Amino acid sequence: MKTLSASSLGLNESMVSAAILDVIDTLMRAGFKAYIVGGGVRDLLLGLRPKDFDAVTNATPAQIREVFGKRSRIIGRRFELAHVYSGREMIEVATFRAPPRKVSTTASGMITRDNVWGTIQQDYVRRDFTINAMYYQPREGVVLDFTHAISDIKNKQLTLQGKPTVRFEEDPVRMLRTLRFAAKLEFTIDPEITKVLTPAMTQLLLEVSPHRIYDETQKMFSGGHLAPLLPLMVQYHVWNRLFVDVSPELTPLIKQAAENTDARIAIGKSINPAFFYAVLLWEPFLARVKELVATGAPHSIAWTQAGLDVLRRQSKHTAIPRFSEMFIREVWELQPRLEQPKPRQVPALAAHPRFRAGFDFLLMREQTGDVLVGTMGQWWHDYQTLSNDGRERAIADLN
Ligand code: ATP
Ligand code: MG
Repeated sequence: MKTLSASSLGLNESMVSAAILDVIDTLMRAGFKAYIVGGGVRDLLLGLRPKDFDAVTNATPAQIREVFGKRSRIIGRRFELAHVYSGREMIEVATFRAPPRKVSTTASGMITRDNVWGTIQQDYVRRDFTINAMYYQPREGVVLDFTHAISDIKNKQLTLQGKPTVRFEEDPVRMLRTLRFAAKLEFTIDPEITKVLTPAMTQLLLEVSPHRIYDETQKMFSGGHLAPLLPLMVQYHVWNRLFVDVSPELTPLIKQAAENTDARIAIGKSINPAFFYAVLLWEPFLARVKELVATGAPHSIAWTQAGLDVLRRQSKHTAIPRFSEMFIREVWELQPRLEQPKPRQVPALAAHPRFRAGFDFLLMREQTGDVLVGTMGQWWHDYQTLSNDGRERAIADLN
């Protein structure tokens, strides 16, 4: 283990949030050890702006709860930790963990419970990548590097601790994390890792709870580096495991949507992961509509039923929340109505709660050549800028 001076690495207290300092100070005053760990330390060392800071301590969740009282709560089963509130911020506080006992794994070696407390020497080993296993103590001004992480940071190398096969069997989600970090940090993935990213290995993702996979897709969609991430998912046989019905030939619509998503995040706008799901599943949705129409279903019924069918299949792999499914179906259902609006319905369509998303979707389809007659996006754009009189004239001009 190397104890490095934080200032020599360009780190100092002013780079971390008041909330994480509060959590660390409070734990230290109560006699516990406390560090910043994981993505926060990694991103600071890379000169990136950390999304948040995670803390780790030798206090158990019950002790954390004693120290922070009502501003803390214990969450998680498979992986128990505490959420501590400081001002408006929430800090995740984990306890040093020892390797899980053998009984807590499935036949394929997947860890199902990971709640055995331990020391920092045991804690760093269970972390996934070397660059995620650095501990920063901002008050003492030190960074603890157990794994030569600093050299991986310098060489931009994504390296797993331990044997990649074992680490992926323990937790297949690490395969998704590999690609997410490679895209975000622009790191080279260690060949020891890429070597084992085979269809047989990514198949393990099918055993992971669809809720956990959905959470991970949310991180992938909203991480700001979706455009470079998508081809990695295809290349390393992950795509078919998550989006079984979506062709790995990335369509212009999907690529464009990924770029727009990243651009929004780059300027600090929020994104709705459901919108990207609507884009991803658009082709499977249309294919299903076609199938249903071929069996004699009326068009409007096929359109509704296809939405239900496609989302039901997808949710077996990534458990999309109900309210997001509603959003996706509404965006789809708006498409024909926006492409060929009945004049009488125009004001109601423009006031539809999903109009903005439906309109963005239509524009993107037009830009990427998904729509044959591509002028209604422009029409709706103009419509929104017009006065009441102008709108009436625009509607009258529709046919
Ligand atoms: P992000 O920028 O996405 O928050 P992060 O590295 O902080 O990246 P978290 O999911 O917040 O990722 O996890 C915090 C830390 O916990 C990680 O840096 C890593 O040390 C450890 N960790 C998280 N998930 C896993 C996992 N599946 N296997 C091993 N270690 C993990
Ligand atoms: Mg984090």
